[in-house]
Amino acid sequence: MDTTDVLIVGAGIIGLTVAREIKLRWPDQMVTVLEKEADIALHASGRNSGVLHAGFYYDPTSLKAKLTCSGNKQLTDFCIDHNIKINRCGKLVVASSENDLPSLTQLYDRGIANGVELQLVNEDEAKEIEPRARTHERAIYSPNTSAVDPVEVTRTIAKDCELLGVAIIRGESFQTGEERGPAVTVATSRRLLSTGLMINAAGLYADRVAHEFGVGMNYQMQPFKGLYLYANDSFGKLNTHVYPVPDLRNPFLGVHFTITVDGRIKIGPTATPALWREQYGWREGFSLRELFETTGNLFRLLTKHDSTIRRSAPTEAAKYLRRLLVKQASRLIPDITANQFKQWGTPGIRAQMLDKTTMSLVSDFKIEITQHTLHILNAVSPAFTSSLPFASLAVDELAKLG
Ligand SMILES: Cc1cc2nc3c(=O)[nH]c(=O)nc-3n(C[C@H](O)[C@H](O)[C@H](O)COP(=O)(O)OP(=O)(O)OC[C@H]3O[C@@H](n4cnc5c(N)ncnc54)[C@H](O)[C@@H]3O)c2cc1C
Repeated sequence: MDTTDVLIVGAGIIGLTVAREIKLRWPDQMVTVLEKEADIALHASGRNSGVLHAGFYYDPTSLKAKLTCSGNKQLTDFCIDHNIKINRCGKLVVASSENDLPSLTQLYDRGIANGVELQLVNEDEAKEIEPRARTHERAIYSPNTSAVDPVEVTRTIAKDCELLGVAIIRGESFQTGEERGPAVTVATSRRLLSTGLMINAAGLYADRVAHEFGVGMNYQMQPFKGLYLYANDSFGKLNTHVYPVPDLRNPFLGVHFTITVDGRIKIGPTATPALWREQYGWREGFSLRELFETTGNLFRLLTKHDSTIRRSAPTEAAKYLRRLLVKQASRLIPDITANQFKQWGTPGIRAQMLDKTTMSLVSDFKIEITQHTLHILNAVSPAFTSSLPFASLAVDELAKLG
């Protein structure tokens, strides 16, 4: 049987930053990362908006609040140190009507409590920041929100890992695992592996890996797809990302405009329910078991008496239609037409956990541990931004295991 000191399942940004952190702290440990795909960054870490969030959306008591502001600073410094392109364009959150103002104030207060640099601006000041955006009375400007190429960032972290001596094994998947005495035995798609510690950073499959160890049995992945629509040249430019005030009861931020690292403009991502976990296209990654699981959960979510999902379902369904998506986005920037947005981008799928005991979507990150395993559950947005301090926190937890 092959052996390693630490085995990490999943070479997304979370698995890779954890591997890097372990090697930085304990260079002598043998660290192996298993990735089921032929390459890294093929799922959420390579298919996201690439926004480095500032950290003002989150309840001050949450892990997201604790990790995002420092994650933004650390990943920005990492990009600068490694010559990775970064577009420091900032972000404007606009109110569509009087009704949005209480939540806008709540966002600002949360940001200040979380130590985020923010400016509360009036309509005229908002116009100076982004002349094309429309707001009602007030807006929030976040100067430290920026954009990167997520694939470039993830690949650079992987390169750092390999330089530190981490073995990243592509095309080999975790199948089953068992804690036995002082070690964990893992059956992969190719062999049996024995490891002192195992870390589960399997994204869309983190619940399945955790269940192998009896962890997080009340959680199941409920995938939500994010579609993007790109602007053509006739749309022109924006100075800054433009976001709406979100419904704070939902874990999603609402349809917004982001600027890529190269200055391209896109609308999205939507939060459209996916029918199975890796449903990027109509047949890709199809699994009958997942289809039954996700549609069954979706039905229960929609029919729950206080369902926030039911409230947003008609607008989310409409976003599959290009013209309706542009119409919704025109609440933020009125001077746009459907003809300016014709190209769909690469979709991403959120690894959103559902708590089956309460039938509610989990909003915060979760770390669960056993004697020799650590499970990173619900690494949803902004886990990309938060990845460096998130990894540090996970390795602090590992250190407690000895
Ligand atoms: C549409 C969208 C937009 C987003 N926008 C942003 C944003 O702008 N800013 C931000 O901070 N965050 C954003 N996020 C969130 C961010 O992308 C994720 O939080 C982050 O990428 C999670 O990283 P991860 O390593 O946990 O997951 P992943 O990148 O999904 O990595 C998990 C890896 O595990 C592998 N794996 C799974 N099962 C197995 C197995 N059995 N054996 C071996 N390997 C396995 C997978 O192949 C995958 O490579 C967005 C997410 C989406 C979907």
